[in-house]
Amino acid sequence: MRSHYCGGINESHIDQEVTLCGWVHRRRDHGGVIFLDLRDRDGISQVVVDPDTAESFALAEKVRSEYVVKITGLVRRRPAGTENSNMATGQVEMLGKKVTILNAAATPPFPLDEHVDVGEDVRLRYRFIDLRRPEMLNRLRFRSRVTSYIRNYLDSNGFMDVETPILTRATPEGARDYLVPSRTQEGSFFALPQSPQLFKQMLMVSGVDRYYQIAKCFRDEDLRADRQPEFTQVDIEASFINEEDLMSLNEDMIRALFKDVMNVELPAFPRMPYSEALDRFGSDKPDLRIPLELQDVGDLVAGVDFKVFAGPANDAKGRVAALRVPKGGDLSRKQIDEYTKFVSIYGARGLAYIKVNDLAKGVEGLQSPIVKFLGSDVAMAIIERTKAEDGDIVFFGADKTSVVNEALGALRIRVGHDLKMLTCDWAPMWVIDFPMFEELPDGGLTAIHHPFTAPSCSAEELAASPATALSRAYDMVLNGTELGGGSIRIHSDQMQQEVFRILGIGEEESRAKFGFLLDALKYGCPPHGGLAFGLDRLIMLMTGSSSIRDVIAFPKTQSATCLMTQAPGEVDEKQLRELHIRLRKPVKAVDGNTSDIGKE
Ligand code: ASP
Repeated sequence: MRSHYCGGINESHIDQEVTLCGWVHRRRDHGGVIFLDLRDRDGISQVVVDPDTAESFALAEKVRSEYVVKITGLVRRRPAGTENSNMATGQVEMLGKKVTILNAAATPPFPLDEHVDVGEDVRLRYRFIDLRRPEMLNRLRFRSRVTSYIRNYLDSNGFMDVETPILTRATPEGARDYLVPSRTQEGSFFALPQSPQLFKQMLMVSGVDRYYQIAKCFRDEDLRADRQPEFTQVDIEASFINEEDLMSLNEDMIRALFKDVMNVELPAFPRMPYSEALDRFGSDKPDLRIPLELQDVGDLVAGVDFKVFAGPANDAKGRVAALRVPKGGDLSRKQIDEYTKFVSIYGARGLAYIKVNDLAKGVEGLQSPIVKFLGSDVAMAIIERTKAEDGDIVFFGADKTSVVNEALGALRIRVGHDLKMLTCDWAPMWVIDFPMFEELPDGGLTAIHHPFTAPSCSAEELAASPATALSRAYDMVLNGTELGGGSIRIHSDQMQQEVFRILGIGEEESRAKFGFLLDALKYGCPPHGGLAFGLDRLIMLMTGSSSIRDVIAFPKTQSATCLMTQAPGEVDEKQLRELHIRLRKPVKAVDGNTSDIGKE
């Protein structure tokens, strides 16, 4: 239908006849001449239609924004002084000879030819129009380049793309499952995969050796800004491989990807044990662009009368930590109040601080509401430990370890951005040596990664002290965001049974839920491991988008609905009956109160 894309016309086409197809981005009537900006996925070309071609001129007068048209004409140089250097096609224009209206368009719900702030609800409702905007289309194009680069990289490293089922059984990745009722097996449900975890392990047992898949995963979680109920993983697994091989292969891939699609040279990825990441940065995904660190001061304050500090300092599950902010002494009372409110989101009950005004004056040179409670020796010892200098501020966290880590960990990022302290654009790293388990509020244990992750110790050592055992898991972190994570897996059935036992999954339950895995481990399972990258998050970081929804063609809202298709939707009675389902809807009882009685 067309000879060129609108964005592809340039000086090399001058005097040539071309045919363009696209949407009318803008139409201007300039005293007898009509200018049409014609847009397609590649860009915009200016078309001039004059009254000499009467029929086409009449049609050009009729077209409105977003009409779909085909125009044939001659490319010519724009008259001197009318060139537009902001446009790729800005040196030329097309003299339109033949205009064909392929389809009319209703007035769009929001204009595309100017930058207007449109509510996200409207954009999602009319996503098919929203995606016409160049910045949206460019993100999709970028995403496609990334996935094709990754596929090529993995293909050329001997990985095989294998699809795994969407209708399956629950895979425990720690979230709620999406369930699909079975019509043929009354009362039974499929679960949508939280990840292809067990299938990729089965493929290793089968001898596939190197597997990858760009896989859809489903997790029915409470949605935070950067989560979607369905998302995409670059899922990878390999046999006869250790963590060293896996980490370097994936690090090389990400580095090559950044170089290829963004011309960014990522530095080498430092490796940091989980415990060090928490101690120094209060987070298992530290943002290493920010040069601020937490420091323990519990030993210094354990003996003071000030209970707020002494309490957690003497509690095995407590922590007292300091965060020194160089040149933070200028922070106003109002800013400190704001930070106090900010850390309260993470459960901190206050934000103590010491400003260092003039160290030459000793404790007199410190400005702080808490120095009088600490005493001058302790206060000076803290200053010495944190190496604070004149003009600095030192913040404190004193509470349960998890609260201190989360609060000061978040504060270091917030302050680092506010005071423009970022030392580089990209700070990748690996976090390693994760614990196998973490404690639940009821005292039980849950797997930090997932229950198929191998421990770094023997089954006997694991049984003897599960709470302190480390795992062979690793996470790739970029700028404080977890890009991906994985582990070397358990490949012996005794070890797998032991982990299930520690997690409180008895023999009967483990057979019922994971019998196929336990069988597979018995029939010659090779040592294997892998990882998965969150593709949406990777694209979001690479494109600098502020929302994960901006890098997904048809995302869900934060309440897990699709505004365009209005999914999820109701289904009719007949379908429910076929699925053996009766809804429990709150029905109006006779007295007008609602009750939960099942509706017949
Ligand atoms: N299945 C894991 C996840 O989704 C990744 C892995 O262990 O390979 O987080």
